[in-house]
Amino acid sequence: MSDGMSSNEHHRSWAEPFRIKVVEAITMTTREHREVAMAEAAWNTFLLRAEDVYIDLLTDSGTSAMSDRQWAALMVGDEAYAGSRSFYHLEDAVRDVYGYPELVPTHQGRGAEHILSQILIKPGDVIPGNMYFTTTRFHQEHAGGTFVDVIIDEAHDPASLHPFKGNVDLAKLQAVIDEHGPERIPYISVETNVNLAGGQPLSLENLRATYALCERHGILVMLDATRALENAWFIQQREPGYSDHSVKEILLEICANSDGATVSSKKDNLVNIGGFLALRDPELARKARGLLVAFEGLHTYGGMSGRDMEALAEGIREMVETDDHVRARIGQVEYLGNKLISAGVPVVVPIGGHGVFLDARSILSHVPQERFPAQALAAAIYVDSGVRTMERGIVSAGRDTRTGENHYPKLELVRLAIPRRVYTQAHMDVVAESVVEVHSQRESIGGLQFTYEPEELRFFLARFAPVAVA
Ligand SMILES: *Cc1c(COP(=O)(O)O)cnc(C)c1O
Repeated sequence: MSDGMSSNEHHRSWAEPFRIKVVEAITMTTREHREVAMAEAAWNTFLLRAEDVYIDLLTDSGTSAMSDRQWAALMVGDEAYAGSRSFYHLEDAVRDVYGYPELVPTHQGRGAEHILSQILIKPGDVIPGNMYFTTTRFHQEHAGGTFVDVIIDEAHDPASLHPFKGNVDLAKLQAVIDEHGPERIPYISVETNVNLAGGQPLSLENLRATYALCERHGILVMLDATRALENAWFIQQREPGYSDHSVKEILLEICANSDGATVSSKKDNLVNIGGFLALRDPELARKARGLLVAFEGLHTYGGMSGRDMEALAEGIREMVETDDHVRARIGQVEYLGNKLISAGVPVVVPIGGHGVFLDARSILSHVPQERFPAQALAAAIYVDSGVRTMERGIVSAGRDTRTGENHYPKLELVRLAIPRRVYTQAHMDVVAESVVEVHSQRESIGGLQFTYEPEELRFFLARFAPVAVA
């Protein structure tokens, strides 16, 4: 058996492989209070105070609950400036679980993206990727590169039931190589369980083919392995030949088909802060460490304290100790998603790994994309119930850096990201009730316009005001 459960128990419903030892109170608010709070936050859920939120599904980033063993690990963290014991524990964990020999620790995922982009991208380079991610593309462009989307078309269709919507379209990738030449393409950025596609996996077959194609052209394959654990689960569930492999084995196999990875440890790795760049090539790792000491910190801590690294090493081992953790994690996401599907709310299918994504374009079909339907829907859900969600649509997509025009993504979504090991099934019931309620009153929701639009990563700090839609 590949994990802690015997096969005759697999028909039972998912349940958490833990019990609760510590609880934290959350605030219940009134509708009047939330109306004022949403207006003060200028209809941007990023600008709400967490205290005004009841169930916080803004992100699954850095919001996980740590285990008793992780809290114990904090206490034994080694705060030595150089050569911390906790760094070596982390290095061992990354080698064992991800299989990369070279570890470059960073303060979080974007720190790793910054270093990777700076050591590999020259101005004028092109970086193909299976859908953009906000901070990843920012750092690629900041280094003078241009991102080109090479994900399969099905990823842009919220209703497509393709089991691996995160797959790279090899014909699109070949066309980018033919057009620009391999010498202008330092690497392809392959994201596991593609966030902006709705938490959708790629298959090992596709990753293997991508790696082989890139190898023939001397192009590196760099994973965004932030959600590689969740991707490994979907491979086990859906890809022929993997049902009797543990997620631990599959995760190693994913990483084996790449030259390195950036990881935000605030997701799969079950900690509140941290990240790393992991590489195979010692020469490349040396270059990365050269920049690391200027931008993040010494090579044996990056941006993390000793205790952060100790808890992270424990989180990395815990997430693959048995398959039960990821089964329950994704089981909870699917529980919420299936409730919404049964109630007729349009969501991205198949249900993704880290959250449920509402199809705002379809729900608010009377609000044109320039009036930010997903942003407006996220605000309406907050006002209804105090549940905080996030826009993943035209606001997040930003503007083309050269033309200044808005990117118009096909997917206009509201993301309900589920923190790991934090909320109960009853919380999921309340979330579903609120979304169904707002969906039933969708015609009363209007659009928004900017009152402040930041130049970079505008979704974080943008401000809005309601605007009448004709
Ligand atoms: C969160 C995330 C990042 C950025 O990581 P941070 O830790 O927030 O800096 C990069 N890629 C993906 C896919 C992510 O989900």
